[in-house]
Amino acid sequence: MKHIRLRRISGLAIATALFAAAPFLSAQAQQQHAHVHGQMKLDVAIDGPTVVIDMESPLDNIVGFERAPKTDAEKATVEAAVAQLRAADKLFTIDPAANCKLGPVDLRSGALGLGNPDPNEPPGHADLDATFSFNCTNAGAAKFIDLNLFSVFKGLRQIDSQIASSQGQFKRQLKRPAGAQAAQPARLSWGK
Ligand SMILES: [Zn+2]
Repeated sequence: MKHIRLRRISGLAIATALFAAAPFLSAQAQQQHAHVHGQMKLDVAIDGPTVVIDMESPLDNIVGFERAPKTDAEKATVEAAVAQLRAADKLFTIDPAANCKLGPVDLRSGALGLGNPDPNEPPGHADLDATFSFNCTNAGAAKFIDLNLFSVFKGLRQIDSQIASSQGQFKRQLKRPAGAQAAQPARLSWGK
């Protein structure tokens, strides 16, 4: 839900910039669609009984290219990546105190023909965006999520995260650990 609202705001910001010729609004809108290979945006919202993880990533981080797959090898890479994203409880291990189960997974990518993709992708590039919803019996107790993203997606170097919970708003940045450490889960933590 949050994802859709952000998109609408950013669309409005672009329209406002065009009509009012206010360059700072346009720069702000572009920043919301930042597309830097190796970097991923991960927003976590803890709301009532749910933990919702919103991911925005250049497609390159996930499959190593940014267009529809052509060869059999590329098709297999895409299939494997999509299967891994759908099995999101293997990518995200939420603090057991929250007692969460994976709910709906929504994947969006124009290049891969998935879902309703973001219409504002930069020319010549492609994103893969996703929303992972978890249903929890004690969502408010969650204070960390262990991420298996660095081990699964080799092109990923940095995760920029914002967490919105009843304990407050947090910003976190995780960098790919060196060497064999990257195979271990990376902990995204917040709160006390
Ligand atoms: Zn790109």
